[in-house]
Amino acid sequence: MTVKRPLHPNVLRGHLQGHITLGTYLLDEQSISTKLVLDADTAEDWSRLLELADKLESKRIPVYREVSRRGGHIWLYTSPLPAHELRRFGHYLLKRNKLADLELYPKQDQLVTGPGSLVRLPFGIHRLTGVRYHFVQPDGRPLAPTIREQIALLATPDRVPDFIIEDILKRIPETELPAPTRSFKGKPHVIVGNTPSERIKNRMSVLEFVGQYVELDAAGRGQCPFHDDQVKSFQVSTQNNFWNCYAGCGGGSIIDFWSRWRKQRGESDTFTDTITELAKMLL
Ligand SMILES: [Zn+2]
Repeated sequence: MTVKRPLHPNVLRGHLQGHITLGTYLLDEQSISTKLVLDADTAEDWSRLLELADKLESKRIPVYREVSRRGGHIWLYTSPLPAHELRRFGHYLLKRNKLADLELYPKQDQLVTGPGSLVRLPFGIHRLTGVRYHFVQPDGRPLAPTIREQIALLATPDRVPDFIIEDILKRIPETELPAPTRSFKGKPHVIVGNTPSERIKNRMSVLEFVGQYVELDAAGRGQCPFHDDQVKSFQVSTQNNFWNCYAGCGGGSIIDFWSRWRKQRGESDTFTDTITELAKMLL
């Protein structure tokens, strides 16, 4: 859930004390980030990722290892970089080391609407296990004896040297950036339907619409944008032309999706407000 309020120290304290769990967005409003997070969801993937971490360190690329419930994250800190460059660098590291099946954050090349994907903020206490997970050294011992000292270390992290990233980016072809998709090009001349909501639904398929906002695989599955989704709980059915989140966020038409999306952005999710905005975007 996105809360649009200044971050009060008490909120951070609540996270550290385990009363709440905070997430963090990696991109700023200009789609610039200083962090790359490689994500392993299983113990097996985590050991593969740890091998990569060791390898990177041997090449003087600083990494930070954060253990999680089922696997862990590798954090790389960089100079401020456009997300699409950071992601190219990250994908290269994964691919080069046969880890292309693992996920990386940031998940967006650039922000189109909304703040992007949420990463669980480190050092909280896990809701299910009641355990606080640490940043660790290569041998598994905590990075520093106390959380306070670990935070202090991460406040001034060792960053990946710029020349290393530049060097790698030069070697790989630039993929085309998806154009911002807030409004759609090539509107058809005739959109059938008696009401705006009918015309919106007939304007394009749910897959086509939702695919602009959620990264979907060939089966139409992806990470749900409406909850902190570690597995692909979200799916668009092309057969029945609806979306659904198996974790309980709901489902339905383009209109239902946009209503949830607006709510996520802290905007009104009423039918009228949703339809009004969609009509402006699509009709
Ligand atoms: Zn969901």
